[in-house]
Amino acid sequence: MIDARVKVPHPVNEPVLSYAPGSPERAALKAELARQSGEVLEIPMVIGGERVTTGEQRDAVMPHRHAHVIGRYHWGETSHMDQAIAAAQDAREAWMAMPLRARSAIFLKAADLLAGPWRQRINASTMLGQSKTAFQAEIDAACELADFFRFNAAYAEQIHGDQPGSVRGLWDQVDYRPLDGFVLAVTPFNFTSIAANLCAAPALMGNTVVWKPSLLAMHSAYQLMLLFEAAGVPPGVINLVTGDPASLVDRALESPDFAGLHFTGSTAVLKALFGKIGERLDRYRAYPRIVGESGGKDFIVVHPSAKDDLDAVATAIVRGGFELQGQKCSAASRCYVPRSMWPALKARLIEMVASLKMGDVADFRNFMGAVIGRAAFDRNAAYQEHARSSSGIEVVCGGNADDSVGYFVEPTIALVEDPQDKLMAEEIFGPIVGVHLYDDDAYEETLALCDATSPYALTGAVFSRDRGAIEIALRMLRHAAGNFYINDKPTGAVVGQQPFGGSRASGTNDKAGSAQNLLRWVSPRTIKETFVPPVAPGYPFMDAE
Ligand code: NAD
Repeated sequence: MIDARVKVPHPVNEPVLSYAPGSPERAALKAELARQSGEVLEIPMVIGGERVTTGEQRDAVMPHRHAHVIGRYHWGETSHMDQAIAAAQDAREAWMAMPLRARSAIFLKAADLLAGPWRQRINASTMLGQSKTAFQAEIDAACELADFFRFNAAYAEQIHGDQPGSVRGLWDQVDYRPLDGFVLAVTPFNFTSIAANLCAAPALMGNTVVWKPSLLAMHSAYQLMLLFEAAGVPPGVINLVTGDPASLVDRALESPDFAGLHFTGSTAVLKALFGKIGERLDRYRAYPRIVGESGGKDFIVVHPSAKDDLDAVATAIVRGGFELQGQKCSAASRCYVPRSMWPALKARLIEMVASLKMGDVADFRNFMGAVIGRAAFDRNAAYQEHARSSSGIEVVCGGNADDSVGYFVEPTIALVEDPQDKLMAEEIFGPIVGVHLYDDDAYEETLALCDATSPYALTGAVFSRDRGAIEIALRMLRHAAGNFYINDKPTGAVVGQQPFGGSRASGTNDKAGSAQNLLRWVSPRTIKETFVPPVAPGYPFMDAE
């Protein structure tokens, strides 16, 4: 046993590689894309370290070329959920007994494997399976995930080092115990890093995990399981189960050993799971922890003082609204623009959007790929149809979709007269941005409108050169966004720099990639030791006068 007080290596953000023509990373990524495109990966479940296959398989396809199958994943039943829970429970004792130093070493190794030899494997898988461009895959699957692993190791050390003071004769300690059962990770399709982190963060703190990934990101989910194994995560610590999401998750929530939910996905599903857990409280050994990050209706408010920043505003709308086809929880989705600025801004936006290419992500000239699947395509097409057919809405650019080869949705900007229209109020989760114009002297009324229009409170931005106007926005929009940006797009939070999460309908705001998140995966035990205990019950005040 090593008693040294070791120090976790100081975390530094993983540098984002450029993939510029002629760069070695570009050549390596292209080769890996070709390799993965040329095979059909068999994707089993992984339970207790065993590969589990079933008689039934489903296709994992490229969203931008939906006839192209890149993987076949095995479809599990609720009995597999039972097996995964049993495997997680079996692995608990040994994993809890492993010192934090050793658990951290495993995830630090995962970071270095990912940043090194595994980088293009995970990037290519994310590009092909989730239709991300090279840059979008790099900032997610390689960099953000390596950052999660490295920064969380440092935060875990910080948490364990946070100890109470002791007076003479006593020693007070806090034992940061993992939760009293397994953690269920239910993960979204849109970020490979989030999928991995929802498993790795509780595991780092000593918990064992049952993982139900998104059916729309199975190719990268399996690569992540292989990465965990290669880094030394022991069998049973993270168990991957697939099948019908509602039945599998419902089964897990029936277990008395269920101790916590680490969820990212839509608000409707988070609310439903919250409700189920509440109804079943009597079954559980302890009150389960619920960490859930969900939808957003993220805004950009432009103040008239930004009139000379048209390129910056237009770039924020285009990058914030259309990168990853608008499928970021933080994607800019509604903008409030002073009427006086609109003619010039409109011209810039039309010009910028016209220069964007959309298509196969293996062609690096493309700025956008496809939306994730049939349901997402139909939902986006319906919002476009609403924009085209409503009398108070002008389609400024885009407005069409084509699913003949892939699920392609044109980047669309719509000028919306009614600020309560669904384009200004609902999460669309696609490349569609609503713009509402306001009279230049109605800034504060517009901030109040922005605050009250949608139930979400995830991200938002204000553009202004006027410090007073920025301060007013910070005050009036204090609860409207968990991540607030000044003169920047509302997307692209970096671990260790802008801890991420929102409140209201957007989630429990436990800030992924922060000590605050890790604290949810421990249940502290306070230990008081008295060195020389008293030996008589009386106190001096009881003595005779
Ligand atoms: P989703 O809700 O469809 O799926 C999320 C997960 O829940 C998946 O694993 C899915 O299989 C599972 N699921 C679906 N229906 C279920 C049910 N009835 N019971 C139990 N589990 C069920 O979300 P998605 O399409 O994968 O992701 C997009 C959503 O995630 C958007 O709303 C986006 O805003 C949100 N998101 C939020 C953040 C954040 O940090 N706030 C980050 C990424 C994505």
